[in-house]
Amino acid sequence: MSNLLVTHTDGSARSGQLHLRSATVETPLFIPVATRGIVRYVPSELVADLGFQVLLSNTYHLMLRPGAELIATMGGLNAFTGFRGASLTDSGGFQIMSLGAKITDEGARFRNVYDGSWVTLTPEDAMTTQEQIGADIAMALDVCTQLPSPEAVLRQNLMLTGQWAERSRAAHTDDTQQLFGIVQGGVDSELRKQSTATITAIGFDGYAIGGLAVGESRENTLEAVRTVVEGLPAERPRYLMGVGDPYLLAHATALGVDMFDCVAPTRIARHGTALTNQGPLRVKGLANRGVDEPLELDCNCRVCQRVSRGLLHHLAHVDTESAGTLLSLHNLAFQFRLITRLRRSIREGTIKALLVDIDKVWGTPVIRSGSHAD
Ligand SMILES: [Zn+2]
Repeated sequence: MSNLLVTHTDGSARSGQLHLRSATVETPLFIPVATRGIVRYVPSELVADLGFQVLLSNTYHLMLRPGAELIATMGGLNAFTGFRGASLTDSGGFQIMSLGAKITDEGARFRNVYDGSWVTLTPEDAMTTQEQIGADIAMALDVCTQLPSPEAVLRQNLMLTGQWAERSRAAHTDDTQQLFGIVQGGVDSELRKQSTATITAIGFDGYAIGGLAVGESRENTLEAVRTVVEGLPAERPRYLMGVGDPYLLAHATALGVDMFDCVAPTRIARHGTALTNQGPLRVKGLANRGVDEPLELDCNCRVCQRVSRGLLHHLAHVDTESAGTLLSLHNLAFQFRLITRLRRSIREGTIKALLVDIDKVWGTPVIRSGSHAD
């Protein structure tokens, strides 16, 4: 039986339910990033209250601190963090890349950011670690490539990603935990096709599109997504990693992507930017001084119910952590409303009209994801 039940389609877009060990969740789905177990500055209870059903935590950080064994003895990630919902751990591939690890056929070797010691992570280690952490979804270990890179490097990394995916699949033993494979290949459509064929031939519970939203143009991102989605099996979930930009999220949903995660909504919040239906808003701006109105009149989040733009403006100048907490909560509410609107539009057959609305606001401003962990 498939883990994904597609109940509605609109063009290539689809909506339904994804069955996970801890919860059945609605798709398309946005997953906030809780790098070290919780979303920075925001209690998990409030994230769940907004309606989010899945959180992403970071294997790389959790394996170093507090350690996968410790999380296992605490009953696994969901019990440890107290989040009432499901969870996903990334494999560490992205962090390995961004920290400049030495990649060999065997695995990756990198410095522990906490104490400087050398750590080796093989695909087999990544599986053991993620099974101990015990999220509902684990990710195969992949080799992420910085863009742009010479084609020889892309090809070499793609070959390794295929080999590591196979070793990850073979080493994964917990049947109640789903394992997703990751397609790489940069923005080269031939390499994307090749990687899609390799990863789907191994067979996973779901398929992620990795290595995008790393600085390439939106057109290139969507072209790569289109190429990969064409080669993925319809009955398995498709997950575009690291994308939260409203424009990309909406257009990738229209291409048939079911899942997204991104640090951007909360990261830009900590830097004083709110996501609104009029586009990004810098609360520090003088236009917000003394304004006795919420960030958005039609937002039902706790912040917009109680807090004025004038207060947020004041805090953004003198207490950035408090401002960051409040803006994070609002931006997550914005992101939840966006994915909910997309889901509803698929069910009503109106996604094209919604894309036109989203393009009007988000056609120009770009919300960059930057690094994929907070
Ligand atoms: Zn709000």
